[in-house]
Order: sequence, then structure tokens, then C-alpha cells
Amino acid sequence: MNEPTDITFAAHPDNVDPMTDATGPTAETPLRTDLAENELRERLSAEQFIVTQQAGTEPAFTGAYWDKKDAGTYRCVVCEMPLFSSETKYESGSGWPSFFEALDPEKVTLIEDRSHGMSRTEAVCAHCGAHLGHVFSDGPRPTGQRFCMNSASLDFVAE
Ligand SMILES: [Zn+2]
Repeated sequence: MNEPTDITFAAHPDNVDPMTDATGPTAETPLRTDLAENELRERLSAEQFIVTQQAGTEPAFTGAYWDKKDAGTYRCVVCEMPLFSSETKYESGSGWPSFFEALDPEKVTLIEDRSHGMSRTEAVCAHCGAHLGHVFSDGPRPTGQRFCMNSASLDFVAE
């Protein structure tokens, strides 16, 4: 007769969900920006910290801005640099705030991202390095691009 073995898989650190674990970066996950970690942790929510500093992704349809239609500007939540205008925001159906172009291409840096077994284009704030989201080539006219952003990376300022 087989006795049940006493193994708890959930306790293994590799099984921790990055979106619900707020214990912070390890030596393998350097912060995306050069700002002081304690200052960032104080100023940002746990989700904002994980998304902008550790390239996390908020769950679809949960962020503050995926369905927002007000006129205004979306700034980087970390450094307040204006990044996107509501005039280029559109309904992508993805559950994340989506734009067909950045306010200024110089303000959003695009980086090839081969993590998670995929080849994607990561978008980061050109000013502070905060992770914003990813860019895909299935967007609408006139650019054909879809800037798929995390609400947690952005701070909306109404016009
Ligand atoms: Zn920034």
C-alpha cells in the first residue's frame, strides 16, 4: 500500500505567481530603472512596481484604463513623461489600453523580447526605462501598430 507522500509543490519559489507575489526582485531580476528601489516601492502600488520594474503583465480587463475613453494624456507612472494621447487610443478588444502610435516615437523605446518562448517587441519608457507593454503589428490605420500597454504603467491626465 502506498502512503501519501508529503510534498508541497506550492511552496517552491518557482511556482510563485509574479502578479500576486509582492516579495520583490531577486538577484536575477534587476530593476528596469535606475531609481532607488525603496523610493519606488513607497510611491508605486505593488502591481505598478511589478509591471514597470520587473516587466510583469496585469491581467486583461482588470486595469484602470483598458476601457477609458476620456480625452487626455497618458504619462509614464514612474517618471511622468507624457507617452500616449487619447486621440490614438482605440478599442482593440484585448483588455489592455491600446494605442496605434506613441505621442512621440522618441519617448517609447522598442526592444526585441525573446522571453517566455515568444518573439515580441517590448515597449519601455525612453526616459526612465520603465516597462510599458508590447507592440504588435496588427493595429489599425494609419500605422498598423498596436501598442498594447499595461494600465499599471500609465497615469492618465484629463485635458
Ligand atoms: Zn518613465
